[in-house]
Order: sequence, then C-alpha cells, then structure tokens
Amino acid sequence: MGNKIFAPKGTRDILPSEVKAWEMVEGKIKEICSVFNYKQIRVPDFEHYALFDRGVGESTDIVSKEMYTLNHRGSDVFALKPEGTSSVIRAFIEHGMNSGITPTKLYYITSCFRSERPQKGRQRQFHQFGIEAIGSYSAGMDAEVIMLVDTLFSELKIKGLELRINSVGCPKCRSDYYERLKNFVEPFKNELCEDCQDRLNKNPMRILDCKNEHCKTLLKDAPLMVDYLCEDCSEHFESVKEYLKSAGIDFVVDPKIVRGLDYYTQTAFEFVSTDLGSQGTVCGGGRYNGLVKMIGGSDTPGVGFGLGLERLMLIMEEQGLLDDLEEDIMDIYLAPVGKDALKIAFKSFRELTKSGIKSGIDVMDRSLKAQMKYANKVNTKYTAILGEDELNKGVYTLRNMSTKEQEEIKIEDLTDYIKGSLGE
Ligand code: ATP
Ligand code: MG
Repeated sequence: MGNKIFAPKGTRDILPSEVKAWEMVEGKIKEICSVFNYKQIRVPDFEHYALFDRGVGESTDIVSKEMYTLNHRGSDVFALKPEGTSSVIRAFIEHGMNSGITPTKLYYITSCFRSERPQKGRQRQFHQFGIEAIGSYSAGMDAEVIMLVDTLFSELKIKGLELRINSVGCPKCRSDYYERLKNFVEPFKNELCEDCQDRLNKNPMRILDCKNEHCKTLLKDAPLMVDYLCEDCSEHFESVKEYLKSAGIDFVVDPKIVRGLDYYTQTAFEFVSTDLGSQGTVCGGGRYNGLVKMIGGSDTPGVGFGLGLERLMLIMEEQGLLDDLEEDIMDIYLAPVGKDALKIAFKSFRELTKSGIKSGIDVMDRSLKAQMKYANKVNTKYTAILGEDELNKGVYTLRNMSTKEQEEIKIEDLTDYIKGSLGE
C-alpha cells in the first residue's frame, strides 16, 4: 500500500457540505450580472507567460514572486493565471469583441493561482468572480461597476464592508507626481526596504502599498497622487464620487490605495472587511485605460474588479449567513427486499428519475430495518417498501416520513401518485 497523498499546500477541497453555499453565491452572481446585462466568459487556466508579464507587470509581486510558470518542452513558457483580467482582455482582443456593442460587458468566475504563504483567506489556488466593462472612458462606467458589486453584497446580506476609493491618475499626471515622490524619499532612500528601492525605479507609487512597518513610517507624510491629479483625472474622480452619492452608495476616499497591478489608471477601489485582519480586502478593482493596448489591442479603456470568493465565504460564514441554507431532501426512497423486488423497483426507479423526482433505491440487498435506518438518515419525504407481502399484492407500502402515515399504492401507479402529491 502506498503512502497517503494529500492535497497540495494552499489548495482546498470544497466538500459537498460546502457546495450548497458556493452554488447559492454563484447563483446570486449570475442573477445580478444578468440584471446588469454582463455576459459570462470562460478563459483557460494557463496562458503565455508574456501575457501577465506585460499585462499585470513584470515588477509586480504577482508576476515577480507569486506566479506559477510552466516550461513546456523547453520552449514556450506558460503561466497559471494569477488573475482574470489579463485573460479576459486577451480574449476580447483575440475575438474582435470590440467590433460588437460598446461597452462590452463581461464577467467570469474562475480559478486563480498564486504561490503565496497559505493562511486564512490566502490560498495558492483560489477563485475570483470578476467583471470587465470595456470601451468607455466615462466615470459612469466606474460607478456602474462598483454598483454591481455593491448590489451583490447587499443581496447576500453582508454587512460591515467599507468601500474605499482613490484615483491613481494617468501617465500624464503621474510623471509629475513621481518627481515629487522621489524628491520626498531622496533623503532616506537607502532606508527603504529592498523591494521599495526596486519599486522606486519601476513603479514608484507602489512604495505606498508596502507592508513593511519601517517603510510605512518613513512614508507616513509622503505626497499623495490624489492631491496632484491633472484636470481630466480630477474631474473624472469627482464624477465617480457624485454618481456613487447619487446612487446612495457609501464610500471613503483612501489616498493610499494603489493596487498591486500595473495597469490601473484613475479610479482604484477596494471593498474591505474588518473581520478578516490583513486578508480583509475581499474585492479590488479599478480603471485600466492602458491595458488593452499594452497587450496588443487598440487603444481601448476598461474598468473592472476581481473578488475573492474564498474570502467572501469566510465573511459570510462569520456573519452566520450560511447557516440556514436549504437542505437537500430526497422525494422518495425505494426499499425493495430481495432480488425479485429489486428488479421491479428498478422499473419504478427509472420512471421516477425520468420524471425528475429525486429518488433513491437500495441496491445493497439490505434488511428492511437497515434500509429504514438509511432512509431516515438521507432525509426523504417518502419511502416505498416492497417486501414479500407487497410483491404478492402488487403494491408498495408508501410511508410518509414526516407524518409516519402508511398506505398501499399499486406498483404501476407509484410515479403518478408521487408526482401528484409533490405538486400539491
Ligand atoms: P492581497 O493584498 O490580500 O494580497 P491582492 O491585492 O493581491 O490582495 P488582487 O490581486 O487585487 O489581490 O485580487 C483580488 C481579490 O482576490 C483580493 O481582494 C482577494 O479577495 C482575492 N485574493 C487575492 N489573492 C488571494 C489568495 N492568495 N487567496 C485567496 N484570495 C485571494
Ligand atoms: Mg496579493
């Protein structure tokens, strides 16, 4: 006998007892996306490495530290996708979706892979629900995207999430701001962590996002992008805020939100729960006007978000929102005693299942007592007993499991009888 093999660290089986909750959440997602007219897209789990190198950005933690890469026959290098947006935009370009209706509104529910230290709310394979609205520069699009996810949270009855928004500007206002930021850190540049020194060269704003305590202290009074937005970006940000207010969506401005990805412009936002500690960000998104062009498409703006489903589930669990999900109840369980009875019961089983009635049958040749014990455990509305007496009379003894009432039903009438009684 071989050694036991366990699931890889950072992965998690979603067991049948949890799937109800996942299906409920996924169902709500689909419902709301349909209400907002977003169409589902399904993308592969791996892509060419270059897609993320360019799309997410080679200097981001995601690409430089967290990505699983695959070397295929020593040539083409692939990567397991660490996020959904790059893949969706790649597909958008590849299939010429920009020639259809603008804006193109897409959503996905997909696996993402990141080689991180596993902890609560942080896995190596996890799931994201995300949307992308591609083709509009309007601040209204940003507000719509935020409204969609806010609607999901309220439909799921989740409380205590804070919406934080910021503007990370555009390449135009950013270059001025970078000068200011660099001048600010110049005197203590060497005290910053190694990562930040690297960020200073590649994407200086990201030093504001550093988790290192010393860096945080040094950068406490650093200049902030929101204070140096160009006119366009400033107007855009004001409009987003106005639209959100008009829609009655609460938010706070958090000038330190940077987001870990290179492709963001203007609006950046997060929904944060105080319940999950440092894994509190359940949803992160923003506008990415540079991305489509960066990965080979025409100059097309976009806005979207990615929402971690495991984190969402953790919050819902803590808030007791997964407690009273409807239990699976079987309609009827067939309890034949002996082989002859089983043969006849199989005919009924065929009719019942073809009629869409949730049915089960004992195929293990167990005693009636054992079968009744099983029937109680699996939670069935009816049990149909077919013992020797019943066989001779050509009937089932049909037991209503909640009232304990029993009656005899002709074998050939069983399906119609159950259909009728379930329809009542
Ligand atoms: P964090 O700061 O927590 O590492 P992030 O900025 O890397 O998050 P994004 O890349 O914006 O996260 O991904 C969007 C969402 O996906 C996150 O808000 C989170 O809910 C979820 N997520 C990200 N990484 C993981 C992970 N390793 N395990 C589970 N969920 C994750
Ligand atoms: Mg991360």
